[in-house]
Parts: sequence; C-alpha cells; structure tokens
Amino acid sequence: MIYLDHNATTPPAPAVAQAMLSILTDVWGNPSSQHALGQQAKGALAAARATIARTLGCKPAELVFTSGATEANHLAVCGLHAAAAQGRQRVVFSAVEHAGHMKLARALAARGVAVDCIAVRPDGSLDLDSAAALIGPDVAVVSLMAANNETGVLMPVAEVRDLAHAAGARLHVDATQFIGRLPFDFAALLVRQGVTLVPQVQGSQERHLRGGTENLPAIAGFAAALERIGDLASEALRVAALRDALEQELRCALPDVHVFSAQVSRLPGTSYLRFGELPAEVVLQRLGRLGVAASSGSACSSGGSEPSHVLTAMRVPRDEALAAVRLSLGETTTAQDIQYLLAHLPPLLRPLLEQPACPA
Ligand code: PLP
Repeated sequence: MIYLDHNATTPPAPAVAQAMLSILTDVWGNPSSQHALGQQAKGALAAARATIARTLGCKPAELVFTSGATEANHLAVCGLHAAAAQGRQRVVFSAVEHAGHMKLARALAARGVAVDCIAVRPDGSLDLDSAAALIGPDVAVVSLMAANNETGVLMPVAEVRDLAHAAGARLHVDATQFIGRLPFDFAALLVRQGVTLVPQVQGSQERHLRGGTENLPAIAGFAAALERIGDLASEALRVAALRDALEQELRCALPDVHVFSAQVSRLPGTSYLRFGELPAEVVLQRLGRLGVAASSGSACSSGGSEPSHVLTAMRVPRDEALAAVRLSLGETTTAQDIQYLLAHLPPLLRPLLEQPACPA
C-alpha cells in the first residue's frame, strides 16, 4: 500500500508505538490513584508533560490534555467565550476551519451567539481585509487554523493575532496540521499563562480545566512523537520536492489537471487537485486499484456527496469541488512511491479524461 493520506492520520513511528505500548503493558495505572501503580502513572504523565512542554517551548502548566484536536478547539473557543466580559460576546472563525470546528460555529450561532466568518480568496488564502472588518471590540475570541487540512494553505496567524490583540480579543490557533511539519514555537491545547478558560468537561484533572482520566498512552505517544522531530526544515524541503514533482508530472501527463491553491504558501506535503471534472470517487477507485490510499475533499452522506466547505468558500464551482482529491505526503513517502504513482495513474485516467463530453 502506498499511503498518501498523511493529513488524515500519519503512521506512528516505531518509537511512538513503543512508548504507547510500554504504558499499556507496564504503567497502566490511573494517575489519580494513591497506590504505587497510580503514582507510577502520575510520574509518567509528569515526564510526558515536561517533554511536550520542552519541545513545544511552553511551560508544563500551560498544557491541557484533551482527547484530540476537536475537543481542544471546542474547549478553547467555548472556554474563552464563556470567560469573556459581558460586552465581548462575538466569536469570529475563518470560513475554512476544520469541518468539526465549523459545526461548533453553527451550534454557537444556533444558541444565539453572534458568529462571523472571515472570508478566503479564490486561491484559498485568508482575506485580511475581511478579518480586519470583522474583528472589533465586541469580539471575545478569534479562531484560526495555522494550516488548512484540505488545501494545505498556511494562514497569516501573526497578522490575525495582531488584529485580535489590538481589539482586546483572544486568539485561538488550531495547529493540528502544522506541528511536526514546519518549524513552530507554540501548540497542543496550550493555554498561555494569564488566559482564563471556563472548563467544558468538569472534573479535577488538568487543573480542573478538563475532567476525565488522562489518556496516558496517547500522551506518552505524543511526547515520543515530538521528541523524535528532527530537522524539520530539511524534511519539509524533501517532501515539498516530491509533491512539486508529482504535481508537475501529472500536469504534463494528463490534460486538465488543476491544483488548488498552487500559487500560495502551502504545507510541504499537501496536494489538492482535480482531474478535469472526473468525480473524486472515480479517481479514488482507480487509486485504490493501484494500492494507493488518498482522500476526497467532499463529505459523503447517505444522500450523496457534498462539496467541501473549504472549496465552496473559495468559490469553486460545485462540479469542480466534487472532483477534488487530496494526496498528502509525509515522512514515510519515498521517491519510489511517487514514481510508481506517476507510472500507473495517468494510463488509468487518460481514457476517462479524453472521452468526448457528448458521444456522437
Ligand atoms: N483540526 C484540523 C486542522 C484537523 O486537520 C483535524 C483532523 O485532521 C482536526 C482539527 C480534528 O482532529 P481530531 O479528529 O483529532 O479531533
């Protein structure tokens, strides 16, 4: 199998799997228990917290462990909104946040919270004029991803932070796709000292900010993953070179290959493209035949496919959006993987692309 779906899940490195397994086999106690096994687990939790804080460049007390990104995003936005002053109740999201986070935006709006979305341009980059127009003194929190999971587009976090702070609002950054891909200096759910959050899940863990027994195997795995990050800059160059070669060769080999957001700064391994208006399922089916795992940009439901909200925000026509396929490369992707794909995919797609639109 050639795995080109690293933006969904990346395979755990052996050191990460080993760190998780050793918790499950040796240190499986509850960190809140008073007995020896519990105390051992508490020690492992503290050690993982210290490692994560050191690698992310924050204080251990600024980390709040959650179940994952969706919950961390929810805690940040709802926790900051609930802690905001009376006159500061509006929440601003970018229009291209992760699908789960956009559902939170809709749920908040349905509850009567004033919610606005910052527009993106047709190339997928954030429209800073829209951001400046929407971020005002009544805003509690601005929520922006560091990099988009579909297009890979890097968002202007520093510029939006300046707009948010000038208006007295808090900034939440979803760095899920960014950490481990490009050099960074912040993260997790990390709550900077001095920021007040109202917990969304009650309990005494995580300094009362997130109840529920800590998922120690996952936390230990996260620490091991961060600890083994090497030279991000050179790995980013390697992966970007593979991605660029893939896009260029596909464009040469097939008619009407369009790469979304090709002209703006993107994550090094993300390629979001369409082959004419061939439906994404057709392309994924051919990729599956070749043993290649990838994703489409659309959300499937029982009634059929809905175009991606990210492409819709970029004003991509529906048929083109339904043709979007995401190939996401990562650390385990090799030049041989890309050569194999380039040798075998074009012959499978060419006859489909060259078919006359209206048979004579
Ligand atoms: N935010 C971004 C940018 C993502 O890419 C993802 C998942 O890929 C999530 C949030 C949701 O992460 P999780 O499924 O771990 O909650």
